[in-house]
Amino acid sequence: MKRRDFIKISGAAALATACAPKDSRSKPGMTGGKPGMTGGKPGMTGGLTDGPESMLIRENPRNGDRVSAIGFGCMRWPMIKDADGKDVIDQEAVNEMVDYAIAHGINYFDTSPAYLQGLSEKAAGDALSRHPRDSYYIATKLSNFGDRSKEASIQMYHDSFKQLKTDYFDYYLLHSIGRGGREAFNQRYVENGMIDFLLKEKAAGRIRNLGFSFHGSAKEFDGFMEMYDSGEMVWDFVQIEMNYVDWRHADGRRNANAEYLYAELDKREIPIVIMEPLLGGRLANVPEGIARQMKEREPDMSPASWAFRFCATYPRVLCALSGMTNMTPLKENVQTFGHFKPLTEEELEFLEKMAIQMKEYPLVNCTDCKYCMPCPWGVNIPGVFQHYNKAITDGTYAQSSAQKDYRKLKKAYLTSYDKAVETLRQADRCITCGECLSHCPQSIAIPRELHRIARYVEDLKQDRI
Ligand code: SF4
Ligand code: SF4
Repeated sequence: MKRRDFIKISGAAALATACAPKDSRSKPGMTGGKPGMTGGKPGMTGGLTDGPESMLIRENPRNGDRVSAIGFGCMRWPMIKDADGKDVIDQEAVNEMVDYAIAHGINYFDTSPAYLQGLSEKAAGDALSRHPRDSYYIATKLSNFGDRSKEASIQMYHDSFKQLKTDYFDYYLLHSIGRGGREAFNQRYVENGMIDFLLKEKAAGRIRNLGFSFHGSAKEFDGFMEMYDSGEMVWDFVQIEMNYVDWRHADGRRNANAEYLYAELDKREIPIVIMEPLLGGRLANVPEGIARQMKEREPDMSPASWAFRFCATYPRVLCALSGMTNMTPLKENVQTFGHFKPLTEEELEFLEKMAIQMKEYPLVNCTDCKYCMPCPWGVNIPGVFQHYNKAITDGTYAQSSAQKDYRKLKKAYLTSYDKAVETLRQADRCITCGECLSHCPQSIAIPRELHRIARYVEDLKQDRI
């Protein structure tokens, strides 16, 4: 497709979006909460009683979609072993969670062909298709990280319909754009004709909202906003990484501060979906000292609840995704968003202090997304990082043989490491082949971090710390 035609199609779509009356497709039947706030300062909103009618709902000002402010991230479905000892999704547990979520007003489900090594979409489709299609919104992605050809990408797109048992997607994302800027974007979506294809699919009604999820620097983000400003591309929504640590303390080079991304989207009135509100689970399991300060302020509120309230306090946020693995976080989220209280300015300042303290802990920035898996050498990359981070946040990290309870901590680390990660899959098995590097949205120097942890473990064993 010629560039001029590309601009023509997407420009026309922009005009259509701006002038269109409210979408007339039937909506999920949630009725609770007040329609979403649009723009301006954090604060306000929310339904405030028990049951589905109390769930905080945000209305998408572009099309009237009434979206629950907490969305179900389908990348962490519960797993069980099958008869051959293989990890498979526990579909019964998934069905139970989806039923509970829908009954309590959660109506946004976010998946991808890449999640759980291809198993997530089918599990979501099997569970959701037991409910009326207009009682939930489906978000999925074009995750063409490997084969970028038009044929493979279109195949992936069609497969998603089959897996999710639907004939339209409510929210469709270009998955994880940003790193590599415009050049990488062109390779994945423009030169292979996929943007042209997706815009036609949108015009045909099979995609209701087209957006992207972003991992990258502020400069790279600016490039995608320039596309929007020039009318070259319409972004109906954008998914960003946002939490109270990344708000002002993101890496900067590899990940931009969410405060900046939010402001750029807010001024263009682009609805925002949040990923990593818990920073890969680290904000649900914060270091002891931080947890204590939170408890002192709000004895009944969990660290996770602080983190979710942070996200939904910002009014341009359509929904914050939570990758729930069992009923415990699901029920807690229903409580948080069923009785939603936005944070005050003073509480936001408190969280900023907590964010500064969090940065002082030597945690690996792993969100447990598992995009780096499988490692051809069998290393359980997220398993190693999660175990290491947990020891730090639990305060059971042996730092020096001069520590009072060093022996106890050392033993606890080594024993729990062997339990959490099989010996043959531990950090010392990494041969630095580099295969995993390009898959990590957090740009973690995976082999370097693995070698650092392997050295730490060896030093513990040899009493060299
Ligand atoms: S660099 Fe290490 S962890 Fe990454 S794929 Fe290679 S062996 Fe596996
Ligand atoms: S190392 Fe990177 S890709 Fe792998 S699970 Fe962690 S964040 Fe995801």
